[in-house]
Amino acid sequence: MNVIDTDKRYIANTYARFPLQLVEGKGSLVYDENGKEYIDLGTGIAVNAFGVADEAWKNAVIAQLDKIQHTSNLYYSIPCTRLAQVLCEKTGLKKVFFSNSGAEANECAIKAARKYGELKKGKDYYTIITLKNSFHGRTITTLSATGQDVFHEHFTPMTPGFVHATANDIDELKTLVKTHKCCAVMLELVQGEGGVAALDKAYVEEVERLIRAEDMLLVVDEVQTGNGRTGALYAFMEYGITPDVVTTAKGLGGGLPIGATMLGERAETLFTPGLNGSTFGGNPVACAGALSVIERIDDKLLGEVREKSAYIFETLQNAKGVKNVSGMGLMIGVETEKDASAVIAGCMQRGVLVIKAKNKVRLLPALNIPWETLKKSIRILKEEIEK
Ligand SMILES: *Cc1c(COP(=O)(O)O)cnc(C)c1O
Repeated sequence: MNVIDTDKRYIANTYARFPLQLVEGKGSLVYDENGKEYIDLGTGIAVNAFGVADEAWKNAVIAQLDKIQHTSNLYYSIPCTRLAQVLCEKTGLKKVFFSNSGAEANECAIKAARKYGELKKGKDYYTIITLKNSFHGRTITTLSATGQDVFHEHFTPMTPGFVHATANDIDELKTLVKTHKCCAVMLELVQGEGGVAALDKAYVEEVERLIRAEDMLLVVDEVQTGNGRTGALYAFMEYGITPDVVTTAKGLGGGLPIGATMLGERAETLFTPGLNGSTFGGNPVACAGALSVIERIDDKLLGEVREKSAYIFETLQNAKGVKNVSGMGLMIGVETEKDASAVIAGCMQRGVLVIKAKNKVRLLPALNIPWETLKKSIRILKEEIEK
């Protein structure tokens, strides 16, 4: 079978794929059908947190597969219960709703925010402020939350109840809170798809103060930043804030689909039976994999993530052809003088997989990428940027 031709014939035409087929891998190395080796700095968009075919993750998943692969939420099951307990103990949040993707995790957060507004101020307090250039998912409502008009085209009308504020502009946010009946602010602390841009700490602290003063919820979308990616277990910890709702997905499952909406003290009692649900949510296999991921993101690993991050920043920041390096931890955007797509293609040719975010080259390596592998890949990337 010619996978490219057959894919083009039978797969809905929503993805612009790279001309590359991945068939297997180990850790941070992946291989195409001809056995060509690549160093993977994209990890399936921050999903394969410990790389490909990680032993501990695989053993946890296989052990669960041998027991029961799915229960539905009609019954109790240990993997999801235990995962929720570990997440709450590690984050200080109080309760978890499990789903299967980042978009779904955000849908649940949006439901929580609207219910909070209704409860505290009345039914018309449903507006959620999100940021321009944000990305919150592909469902109609999370698209509506997404502050990029290009994603709204063709699919209007969007779900009402979202307004978009300029990142790092606290005055604009205050004005929007005054002019709309709001229930929450929802933001990514490091905008991922929007170009790997970290919010200013002072701004985020002001947002927290504002939402407390106005009795709104602070929702942090950690679908991409979460689970060790930024050098903290969750990026909100790095910012020293206490969000009311934290959503995550991507890296949590280590390669299997899972979404989690974590609810803090002010949000934990908003849901009652029947108000939300998901057939696959809390799937025992996905949760067993996630448990093996989350239990291994300890201070030692996070320290290494920060050291590797510093190495990448130092190596690329003043390199020839580099305009700017942004991001946090192992979530890094490199703005290059050369077109990013050309850099990415050059790297691929030389056996390094990097991806794109807006006009930037985006790096999302495995949290445990070996030093030598990282150094080799960054050297090749640097050469391709300089070319
Ligand atoms: C990827 C992403 C989403 C959407 O996640 P899906 O699993 O693709 O639905 C939402 N928010 C952020 C910040 C993301 O990076």
